[in-house]
Amino acid sequence: MGGKLITVLSGGGGGAKFVDGLSRVTQNFSVIANTGDDIEIYGLHVSPDVDTLMYTLSGELDIKKGWGINKDTFTCQNYLKLLGYENWINLGDKDLAVHIKRTELLKSGKSLTEVTSELCKRFGINIPVIPMTDDFFQTHIQMEDNTVHFEEYYIKKLEGNIKKIIYKGKGKANPSEKFLNALNCSDWIIIPPSNPLVSIGTILSLKSIRRRIRKKKVIGISPLIQGRAIKGPLAIMMKSLGHEVNSFGVAKYYEDLLDIFIIDTIESGIAERIKRELDIEVLTTNTLMKTRNDRTKLSKFVLNRMIE
Ligand code: GDP
Repeated sequence: MGGKLITVLSGGGGGAKFVDGLSRVTQNFSVIANTGDDIEIYGLHVSPDVDTLMYTLSGELDIKKGWGINKDTFTCQNYLKLLGYENWINLGDKDLAVHIKRTELLKSGKSLTEVTSELCKRFGINIPVIPMTDDFFQTHIQMEDNTVHFEEYYIKKLEGNIKKIIYKGKGKANPSEKFLNALNCSDWIIIPPSNPLVSIGTILSLKSIRRRIRKKKVIGISPLIQGRAIKGPLAIMMKSLGHEVNSFGVAKYYEDLLDIFIIDTIESGIAERIKRELDIEVLTTNTLMKTRNDRTKLSKFVLNRMIE
């Protein structure tokens, strides 16, 4: 790879696992974190995908849960419930400490980018984790009879058809300056196996971003294996919104961006169709990251394609 920079666009689940693998193979990349999941809880600024990336890269993540800090306790939250707070989101004591620090720094006038950089330093992370925007941006889900923040939809596992995804901030929020700098310096963009609609779609909805990324070499990895999400509501969301629920549907969503698309070996049958109908080069490998070794292997596979 030489000294070439890579920009990775990421959510907090599949994206964070991939980024963790990549960090064991190269340090020449920046991660742009989705901030559409950001939400205020107990007056604190919670940034779920930024946090999952931070906790993953620092080795602090509760791997079993896939969120929060390992061996965290919930004393504060339980006490808050006793005091009458009703909440559907679980925030551990250590996790709350992070949100208190973030909120305090934001209130002192620092941007989310500056605050994230400071938090990352305290977690000993060398990879730049850059929020996609410093401006207000939230993803909301419009259902048949109500509209909720994406986090609420996700955590409560709300059922039923989705009518629309609303990017609150679209057209107004600017990409963060560091995001634009990273893009300018990068030859390659990686879209890891994150949710296209609510983790990557948010980033792509920011002013000028889709156009800028179109000019770069882009390699994506499908978050669906045989039409199923590994975790989370992607499949049902895609179905509700009329997308084909498989890797073809994901490739179609990124059609104008992708040079190379990686799908799981198990669904190599669909590769030919993606090539023929969308004119995207398709490669197959094991994309299921069960172990740390799987993460590293997938990252190496992606990096090797960039050399060729
Ligand atoms: P979120 O912010 O928690 O929604 O996380 P992301 O958007 O980064 O990732 C969610 C997506 O990652 C889901 O659609 C999953 O299907 C996908 N995913 C999670 N783990 C894996 C994996 O090991 N391999 C693949 N291919 N996809 C994965």
